[in-house]
Amino acid sequence: MTPTLPIQTTEFKIEGIPVKVHGIRTGTVQVKKSHRDPSQGMLQIMVDFHWADPMPIYCWLIEHPEGNILIDTGENVQVKENWYFDCDPTVGFANQKILKFELEREMEIGRQLYRIGIDTDDIDWIILTHLHIDHTDGLMYFPRSEVIVSQAEWDRPYGSMKCLLPPGMRPNKIIYEKDPVFLGQYPLTSDGRIRIVATPGHTYGHQSVILEADEHTVFFAGDVSFDQEQLLTDRVGGIHVDKKLSKDTYERVRILAQARPMIYLPSHDWKSGERLVGREAVVV
Ligand SMILES: [Zn+2]
Repeated sequence: MTPTLPIQTTEFKIEGIPVKVHGIRTGTVQVKKSHRDPSQGMLQIMVDFHWADPMPIYCWLIEHPEGNILIDTGENVQVKENWYFDCDPTVGFANQKILKFELEREMEIGRQLYRIGIDTDDIDWIILTHLHIDHTDGLMYFPRSEVIVSQAEWDRPYGSMKCLLPPGMRPNKIIYEKDPVFLGQYPLTSDGRIRIVATPGHTYGHQSVILEADEHTVFFAGDVSFDQEQLLTDRVGGIHVDKKLSKDTYERVRILAQARPMIYLPSHDWKSGERLVGREAVVV
């Protein structure tokens, strides 16, 4: 049995008030080597026999005085069963061909929160960066939380399996206000120091979360890129609904990173947790 990877925790301050952030890994996902190549499309990726190395599936917990915020919910152990994909023969079939998961029940988000003393009912907000299964499959732990997804992602999902969402789930489908850098923003906390921003490209309605701490900007990227390297080398992965839009999003992220020290945390980058704990800002 694979051991659960340790939770990575650090504390930032907002106006001097401590805000803890935890990086929690819910197993790993493998994609095909071609999936990381900008020139490849879905068909080439489906028939590629070569798997890339496993990547983590991160979720992020922010303990803020106004409430506990969970960014994405990771995977659950059922994803390893073939029947799991049956409810959507098209997208399910593609997902089965292009993704390979490894996790144990103890790695599911609800179990890991329990171990650090947080009841799943005490999660006030769940922000979904997008609706891909490795970001939504832990939702069953949180029937009482407010789930936030962009209106665009909900209306025009790409590569998602809505049939796997908890039955009757009624997310808060947000509409953005103007943002100086991104295509839109939605302030989550009353001071706006935690806000959701539109970061389309991977999917039409992909969004990221920004925490403006006193000394750093923390950027919870979701799947804007697989890892920081791709942002710095301006390479977009194989499965993005709009690669031009992804590059436009990359540019906006880099503009933000030039404004003040920014810690960039993609969901599938092994180094994300170390960068969080070490407060390592991206150099663009
Ligand atoms: Zn994704």
